Amino acid sequence: MPDGLEKLVEHDLSEDCPVCRAQEVVATALLPAAAAWEDSNGLPRFSLALQGAAGLLGTMLEQGVARDEIEAVLSRLLDDVEAHIAEEGAMGGPPLGSA
Ligand SMILES: [Zn+2]
Repeated sequence: MPDGLEKLVEHDLSEDCPVCRAQEVVATALLPAAAAWEDSNGLPRFSLALQGAAGLLGTMLEQGVARDEIEAVLSRLLDDVEAHIAEEGAMGGPPLGSA
């Protein structure tokens, strides 16, 4: 795993955890903005998520991070997200990103 990125998958859930705050920014600011932009530009749903993620991850490739390392981190993150979704579902809360 690239230096420092362990933090992304092994963070705590405290109030001031910067990783949790980053997730909140994505859910509350980026996701609704992306959905609105896709909508007004006639793009398929999730276009920005995929293109944006691929583009951002591409900058990691450019900086020499190995593709399999990126895929490994991404896979761990998606596992986390899935676990989170399952948790929210079990508590009867809203699905991730619907806020
Ligand atoms: Zn956290």
